[in-house]
Amino acid sequence: MSGSREGVKRVELVCPAGSLPALKAAVDSGADAVYMGFRDATNARNFPGLNFDEGAAHKGIQYAHERGVKVLLALNTFPQPENWSQWTRAVDLAASLDVDALIMADPGLLRYAAASHPDLRLHLSVQGSATSYEAINFYQRQFGIQRVVLPRVLSFSQVTRLIENTDVEVEVFGFGSLCVMVEGRCALSSYVTGESPNTCGACSPARAVRWEEDASGRRSRLNGVLIDSYQPGESAGYPVLCKGRFEVNGRVDYAIEEPTSLSLLDRLPELLKAGVVALKIEGRQRSPAYVKQVTQVMRKALDACLADPDGYAPHSEWVTQLDRVSEGTTHTLGALDRAWQ
Ligand code: SF4
Repeated sequence: MSGSREGVKRVELVCPAGSLPALKAAVDSGADAVYMGFRDATNARNFPGLNFDEGAAHKGIQYAHERGVKVLLALNTFPQPENWSQWTRAVDLAASLDVDALIMADPGLLRYAAASHPDLRLHLSVQGSATSYEAINFYQRQFGIQRVVLPRVLSFSQVTRLIENTDVEVEVFGFGSLCVMVEGRCALSSYVTGESPNTCGACSPARAVRWEEDASGRRSRLNGVLIDSYQPGESAGYPVLCKGRFEVNGRVDYAIEEPTSLSLLDRLPELLKAGVVALKIEGRQRSPAYVKQVTQVMRKALDACLADPDGYAPHSEWVTQLDRVSEGTTHTLGALDRAWQ
């Protein structure tokens, strides 16, 4: 096993590309790699108007590769028996498009990709929910994965211990909206819409979202279920069940999680010294302007940290710029800093 890695090495900044303009924004703003998905249920950001058909994917990959930026393709939902071939076709298409790696979660699909395209790099998606080095090393032995994206449920010390016990590269989320359940296992939306992010690619499918507005304010509903009510002028996020306000024991509040964004800006040196090899920005559903802003700030921060980890401190304007585009205009370290796990 690699053990605790000495010093700080080059770390890849992995940025979201939900569209061709977003991909170009990420590439032009300093991404080392972008991640994207096809325009269907094979990836976990299956929203109308997002993602890439074959032609757009080809253009995007060419644009990135010409500028020395890698392209990772998310095929991270779970095929069902009746639509297995849709996922294998997506694997074959990605391989023919010359992507640099596939980000996958389903063991059957990992087996298919490893057997059919042995030279293609495989990354275990956050949707794979691998939170221990035993699980990660199992995926390495079985399918030859070269990287794992860690679910956002581990503390700093757990991340460090995990890296000490695996040769698989470790990527962590550095900024963006939080998914509070163990990714790949959340079925909250299934109770309300009959669809889950793990099989259909969206935890609040757009067809089920309704907004109502009158003089008293705005209300968001998912398949008729009230998720939140906003006073006139109060900002409202995209409605997902985990971030709704509900009445519990007579009190209306965020019952599961407040809308807030993860930001590791303050703690980059610790992560880099632990041996994290890639820092991921969440947000394929966000605008090209968002991607540009966050990529630019994280690029500056990473470069500053890599140049002088011991002297690193985030500039206050970086924090302000990121908070401005954060959910709830505030940030958190999430589980990384939680006393309980
Ligand atoms: S409902 Fe919330 S916790 Fe569940 S997958 Fe969606 S964002 Fe994650």
